[in-house]
Amino acid sequence: MSELSRRGFLGSATLAASAAGVTAAGAEPEYGGHEKGGGELPSFRFALEESQGGHRTEGGSARQATIKELPVSKGLAGVSMRLHPGGIRELHWHAIAAEWAFVLEGRVRTTVIAPDGASEMNDFEPGDVWYFPRGHGHMLQGLGPGDAHFILIFDDGAFSEFGTFSVTDWLHHTPPEVLAKSMGLPASAFAKFPKKEVYIAQGQIPPQDPPRMHQGGQKLTSATHRYPLLAQEPHSRFAGGEERRVSAREFPISTTMTGVVLDLKPGGLREPHWHPNADEWQYIIRGKARIGVFGSEGRARAEEFKAGDVGYVPRGYGHYIENIGEEPLRVLIGFNSGDYQEISLSTWLAANPEAVLADNFQIPEEWVARLPRRRVFIASKDGPGT
Ligand code: MN
Ligand code: MN
Repeated sequence: MSELSRRGFLGSATLAASAAGVTAAGAEPEYGGHEKGGGELPSFRFALEESQGGHRTEGGSARQATIKELPVSKGLAGVSMRLHPGGIRELHWHAIAAEWAFVLEGRVRTTVIAPDGASEMNDFEPGDVWYFPRGHGHMLQGLGPGDAHFILIFDDGAFSEFGTFSVTDWLHHTPPEVLAKSMGLPASAFAKFPKKEVYIAQGQIPPQDPPRMHQGGQKLTSATHRYPLLAQEPHSRFAGGEERRVSAREFPISTTMTGVVLDLKPGGLREPHWHPNADEWQYIIRGKARIGVFGSEGRARAEEFKAGDVGYVPRGYGHYIENIGEEPLRVLIGFNSGDYQEISLSTWLAANPEAVLADNFQIPEEWVARLPRRRVFIASKDGPGT
């Protein structure tokens, strides 16, 4: 029995029979592309948490997904990082990308400096987001108790976490006489500085109370770098799931990125849609998903995802996300625009004359009459709802 007819979506047996044919073809994970000869889409999945390599030091570890690991991901890159208590991802900046982060476990303290000299120190807990504009100097510190685990998303697929502008690398490649003039230590002192990039140092366990800055007081920033995303109510709830979202509207400093936490119940479906203005980077936090992508010219591909996998959907490509497991599915999603935009299939169809839909799909108008008349966004295992 097809999904469509089991739901009683169609009344007449004749209609149900022909609809079943349509559904059976559409239920194949990979369909369309081969018959139409448009070629295949390349894989858009990368098993980040299973990947080898990356960086591991005494203070923590990092593995990444860039265009090298996942060639389709031209617009965004991501990193899974763990810091032990007292582990310090050293002072550094990024020349090409802004940094957006979501804390999965543990606690993290950060500092960040802006070109106007304003700075901020923040403590982050699970569910919190940070955003550091491109080029702004920052550091991350594991606060304990226990390791911190967080996902970093960067708004450029060519970004490499292992090619950042780290302070130790910089100082080691600057003449000691130059450093002596600007830093107030004798030139001989710099022989004691690290001879290569430290990346993640193991330092002392930081105090729980905010420590004083080297400069004493702080010139405070007008726009905070911290947003507690999971502490917010979902922007809307559906029978099949819910979504939390943070764009530049809710989090003004995040001008180039939007983040989403999508929760789908078993069988729940984020309906087919596309984003006119942004690429989409996905990280499966828990559960099992099928993600289908449509890339025009007869090219489509669906892949199955488990926790720790990364996915990527280029700007403008049609796609859906379905919970195919028995457990709740939670997906972290990053977009490389601070202006969140999407067009869902249901909204699009509902904004057209019924006769046009009937003629376009070559289906009876009584079928068209049953299509959703408003945005579905998230469907449940039982269908789009009312
Ligand atoms: Mn960084
Ligand atoms: Mn999407």
